[in-house]
Amino acid sequence: MKYSNLFIPTLKESPTDAEVISHKLMVRSGMVRQLATGIYSILPLGLRVLRKVEAIIREEMNKIGGQEVFLPSIQPAELWKESKRWSFYGKELLRIKDRHDREFCYGPTHEEVITDIIRKEVKSYRQLPMLMYQIQTKFRDEIRPRFGIMRGREFMMKDAYSFHADEQCTQETYQRVSQAYCNIFERCGLEFKRVEADSGTIGGSFSHEFAVLADSGEDAIAFCSNCNYASNIEKAEAPDPGEPKDSGNLQDLEEVSTPSQKTVEEVTQFLSTSPDHIIKTIVFETEDGLIAGIVRGDRQVNPVKLKNLAGSAWAHPANESLIKEKTGVPVGFVGPVSLKNVKIFADREVLHMENAFCGANKVDFHYKGVNPSRDFPIEQSGDITLIEENSPCPKCETGTYGIRRGIEVGHIFILGTKYSEALKAHFLDPNGKEQVMVMGCYGVGVGRTAAAAIEQNHDDKGIVWPTALAPFQVQIIPVNYSDEITREASDNCYQTLTEMGIEVLLDDRSDRLGVKLNDADLIGTPMKIILGPKNLKNGQIEIKIRKTHQSDLYDYPSILEKFPEMLKNI
Ligand code: ATP
Ligand code: MG
Repeated sequence: MKYSNLFIPTLKESPTDAEVISHKLMVRSGMVRQLATGIYSILPLGLRVLRKVEAIIREEMNKIGGQEVFLPSIQPAELWKESKRWSFYGKELLRIKDRHDREFCYGPTHEEVITDIIRKEVKSYRQLPMLMYQIQTKFRDEIRPRFGIMRGREFMMKDAYSFHADEQCTQETYQRVSQAYCNIFERCGLEFKRVEADSGTIGGSFSHEFAVLADSGEDAIAFCSNCNYASNIEKAEAPDPGEPKDSGNLQDLEEVSTPSQKTVEEVTQFLSTSPDHIIKTIVFETEDGLIAGIVRGDRQVNPVKLKNLAGSAWAHPANESLIKEKTGVPVGFVGPVSLKNVKIFADREVLHMENAFCGANKVDFHYKGVNPSRDFPIEQSGDITLIEENSPCPKCETGTYGIRRGIEVGHIFILGTKYSEALKAHFLDPNGKEQVMVMGCYGVGVGRTAAAAIEQNHDDKGIVWPTALAPFQVQIIPVNYSDEITREASDNCYQTLTEMGIEVLLDDRSDRLGVKLNDADLIGTPMKIILGPKNLKNGQIEIKIRKTHQSDLYDYPSILEKFPEMLKNI
């Protein structure tokens, strides 16, 4: 491709709303333009990259027996009402009406549509299992679209769905997709981790996310320094403290005056104790009213683990006025003893506490001599602490947690019979008995993967594409294309490399060399060939590697045949 034939509207300045580097560089390198909030046009250079990601995804999905389909983006409301998601999905679902006033939505995901097809067409266990995928535009009316195409409202996703006769078979497919995802992100040249992800109240290892490690990531990823346990922090487990023992040395419960002492730090100092002797009470609002998570004073509550322990659909930190209204107690003095209108969920560690301190549900007072086994009812206990850097790994004896930021690029999930039951996707087993299908679903964000690659691979000059995702692998930059010798050599390089199947961009513009080099750095082409009359006279061309900035002279034209090998090694 010749530069003059390609629309690459590069910019010197970043858009003012761009917070992360991938957004800045995608706009500056002319890959994308925003049409409306969270809605982007993909320009030629950007599309070349997305097509690379798609091609890798297709190959890996086909390898594991995935069949590609293309489902409608507009979906009838009736299907969503059957699955109960019409009401549950909330404002993220873009609802539309046709000319007959019939309700539809623009698909944010396709479980309903694919399950509708399968329930109508698949009747026997002989037709199972089935793995279908598509690469298609989704629309989610995200509350905070940002970071360019990384969190858009309209975005490209590869979504896949599998249907099975039993759980065992679902797990086998799940593992195969999981491996395919590892292959995809490896081939994209990304540093990523496969982490356990929250799967709501179901629990277990039914969901994994694939996170590209980058400081700008919205997720916190916890992983062991020793074993291969890695988890989204939302789900990361704390070590099991074991069964609590009663020392038989319980003090009486007693009120102590703690004027204006509200935080754990203040109370610790005032009462000359340590945070691990204080019971911290954090109140959350759920669909079933208020709940409190209680943890040791030196720990934080993990809202996702608490929500799952309580079996709630959602849990948000309750605001001060709501807490005051329902319990009669101001924040800072709330504690689990005789707390009104709040169900108590205790971290396992709290059960080990003896003669502890906690808020006395009365302004300026705390209790001492608090004993969880004796002094208050616990709805349920479990693991609800937020793990921290260097906390011990729950899976191996020796490791400790490290925490890094990650961008979720893929997510796999065993759905069980959630949708097949709601939509009645049944089949006949070998005994002629009707059974419900078991399902899995699997997603990769195409645009987000490309953006994550930039987050991980850039420098102050621009993008540094991994070769597999680069829009072009080689950029030919003639010092002066109107010079006859240079033009002839440039055209020859272009033709020879193109014939080898290498994607080459020939910068045939009349701009200054500096401009051309800067643009090449900005758009991130892995390898540049710089040709000028001086070197050509000596039978040489300059080759510069984007990643390392290394620049060397090579004999021309003999070096050209080494290009496939050289590209593999950068
Ligand atoms: P997030 O937690 O980031 O909102 P999600 O868990 O809702 O994402 P899934 O339903 O698991 O997303 O979708 C599968 C994949 O689609 C995600 O792993 C991500 O790569 C991509 N994706 C999801 N939402 C967006 C978005 N708004 N913009 C771009 N890609 C997205
Ligand atoms: Mg997800």
